[in-house]
Parts: sequence; structure tokens; C-alpha cells
Amino acid sequence: MKYEYVICHYAEIGLKGKNRKFFEEKLVENIKKALPGNSFQRVRRISGRILIELIEEKVNETQIKNSLKDVFGIAHFSFAVGCEQKIESIKEKAAEILKDKKFKSFRIETQRGKKDFPLDSQQINERVGEYVLRKLKTRNPKLKVNLKKPKITCFIEIVEKYAFLYLRKIPGPGGLPVSVSGKAISLLSGGIDSPVASFYGQRRGIEIIFLHFTSFPFTKQSSVEKVKKIVEILNRFQFQAKLYLVPFTEIQKEILLKTKAKLRVILYRRFMFRIAEVLAEKVRARALITGESVGQVASQTLENIGAIEEAVKLPVLRPLIGLDKKDIINEAGEIGTFDVSILPGEDCCSRFLPKHPETRANLAEVKREENKLNIGKLIEEAIKKTKVVRIINHKS
Ligand code: ATP
Ligand code: MG
Repeated sequence: MKYEYVICHYAEIGLKGKNRKFFEEKLVENIKKALPGNSFQRVRRISGRILIELIEEKVNETQIKNSLKDVFGIAHFSFAVGCEQKIESIKEKAAEILKDKKFKSFRIETQRGKKDFPLDSQQINERVGEYVLRKLKTRNPKLKVNLKKPKITCFIEIVEKYAFLYLRKIPGPGGLPVSVSGKAISLLSGGIDSPVASFYGQRRGIEIIFLHFTSFPFTKQSSVEKVKKIVEILNRFQFQAKLYLVPFTEIQKEILLKTKAKLRVILYRRFMFRIAEVLAEKVRARALITGESVGQVASQTLENIGAIEEAVKLPVLRPLIGLDKKDIINEAGEIGTFDVSILPGEDCCSRFLPKHPETRANLAEVKREENKLNIGKLIEEAIKKTKVVRIINHKS
């Protein structure tokens, strides 16, 4: 069977008026970016669905399936054939797509997006069911209609001027189309957690701008390569990305020299957040995302989180808050970032860790220590030396 279409369904909860059009347009745009360029003629909105018109001779099902599995917003999708919107044609087509399949029982399930079709869904099911049964019984005398537990279901959708038929619903990734929720800056360390946190942001429709702090010569070029690889992997969900590389060495040195050892990590983070906030304003990002999770390491206590977050005004999202480490590791494996995250490559903050880091930061003390530094100038210098890498994934 040669498929002519793919029909994509999305979860419609909360989609109304203008919102809906915006959502659908983004979804169309993202599907176009994800699909192999020569595989489709057109992608468009069609009453509550997205219709992909395939180039028949170029259909590579596996390739298309793999591309659509990364497009957030798709609840499920189906490879379909189409026919004229007449009951006779629909009957024929149903018999045709079922005739080479092996099954003992079946059912027809119709969805009518267009209410002026002369038959209702139930009537279509009955007419098509009867016809298929009669036609295929000659070869398979035991064939039955089974509404409760059929071996195969033939789905029919009546929309606009078309009738579409298909046999399988393939689950999509769910979520919201990337970029409908605006942008956020994700602080990406190269560890296991922050890539997963970025992924969760993308899944809720956030376009991620990636930000990584480097600390030459304390960290090596290989750490940067690692982070670039991670961004490439995550980029399959948003197709193009910016990665900011901010030199952190000077700030780190100042903190090491002038402030209490136990507060180092908290002060590093406050600086990271501030720099992220400055960049956020430049790119119009509305939130920061980190891979922090309460209590995962001694430093991630509620007190410390509070003392860090106080440095910025932007909301800080922590999508991993409810996950155990083993869940995060599983998820990183699924996304494909785990194997890169565990490659050797030191993070700037893992050097010079104090023996007894503060676990209950006191904000007044943190601020007192911090005020020994020229905060404004350090940030300005770091921003000046920031480099941006553009990551564009090439389609297969
Ligand atoms: P990860 O696995 O993401 O490294 P972690 O459990 O090791 O997280 P920390 O090292 O304490 O935790 O870092 C907490 C968060 O701070 C990270 O998830 C990340 O968002 C941010 N972060 C840490 N180091 C960097 C860095 N070099 N560049 C950018 N962000 C960083
Ligand atoms: Mg880390």
C-alpha cells in the first residue's frame, strides 16, 4: 500500500480562538522543518488536524516516523490514503487497504469533522463494515466484525472535501510545539541533569537558548565539545539553536581569592544567574532553566536555592524538581544525552570545591561576601568576552 498522506492529531485542550491558530501554524512550521525535505508536497492545517501531503514515490515510512516522533505537539499520527467523499468510494478504499492484511476480526471507526456529510459516523461504520465483510469473506469465511476487541481497526476521517483511511495510530511525543511558549535560557553544564531539564522545557513549547560557562585553563576544550554535542542532540526538537559560551575563569578566581570557601558554589551560581539574566534580556527570553533538584547534592537545599535565586528577577524553572536521580538518568538515556554527559570533561564548578560547603546559606552573609567583589565589572567583562555558536542540524 502506498500512502499519500500523514494525518497528525494534537491534544486540543486549552486551544481556543487566536491561540489555536498560532499553535497550529507553529506545528506546521515545525513539521516542515523536521521532515526530510523531499518527502512532502505540502503541510497544512485542516479542521483540527495537520495534513502532510506526501510525495508518493518518495515515501520512506521509517524516516518520516522518526522525524515526527521529535515534533512536540503531535499526540498521534497516521499514514493514510484518501478518496472521494462518497460512501461508495470509501467502501472500496476500505476493502482495498484491508485486503492484504491477515486478521480474524475487524471494526470500522469513523470520525466526522464535517457534519453535512449525508451519513453520520455510525451509519458509515455500518455500511463500510458490511461491505468489507462481504467482500473479504470469500477469502476468509471466518471473518467477523468485533466492536469490542477487533484484531484490526480501519479508521475513517471525513474532513473538508476528503475521506482519509488508515489502520494505525502511531504515538507522537505529546507536549506543545517548540516556541509557542516563548524563549528561555537554559544553563547547560555538560552533566546529566541540565540537558534533561532543557528537554522538559522544550516539551512544553519553550525555545531554548543554551548557555555554558567555561573556565579555561581549569577546564579543557573537550568540555566545550561535549556541551556542543549535547546541544546538537537536543536541537532535533527545535532545529536551530544558539549556544552562548561565557568565560567564567576571572569570576571564579576572584571568588576563590576574596570570599569564604564555604560560600563558593553559591557565589558562582549567583554570578551565573546574573549573567544569564543579562543575556536573557538581549534575546527576549522570559525565564531561566536549570538542572537543579532539591537535595540531590548537599548544596541544593531550599535555603541555598533561595540564596542563589535572590540574585535575579527572572523566574527560574527547575523541571527536575520532582525526579529521582535514577529517573533523570533513564530520561537522559531516552533522549540520547546520557552517553555524552558521562564522557570525561570537568565542569568549572567541580574544581576547588571546599571541604565543607554551606548547606544553609544565610543571605546576609552571602551578600556581605559578595560585596567584596566588583560585581558589575566582572559581569560586564564576562559578557564582553562571550562567544555564540549557532547550531543547525542537517536533515538526513
Ligand atoms: P548537572 O548534571 O546539570 O551538571 P548537577 O546535579 O551536577 O547538574 P550542579 O553541578 O550543582 O548540579 O549544577 C546545578 C545547575 O547549575 C546545573 O544543572 C546547571 O543548570 C547549572 N550549571 C552548573 N555548571 C554550569 C556551567 N558550567 N555552565 C552552565 N550552567 C551550569
Ligand atoms: Mg554538574
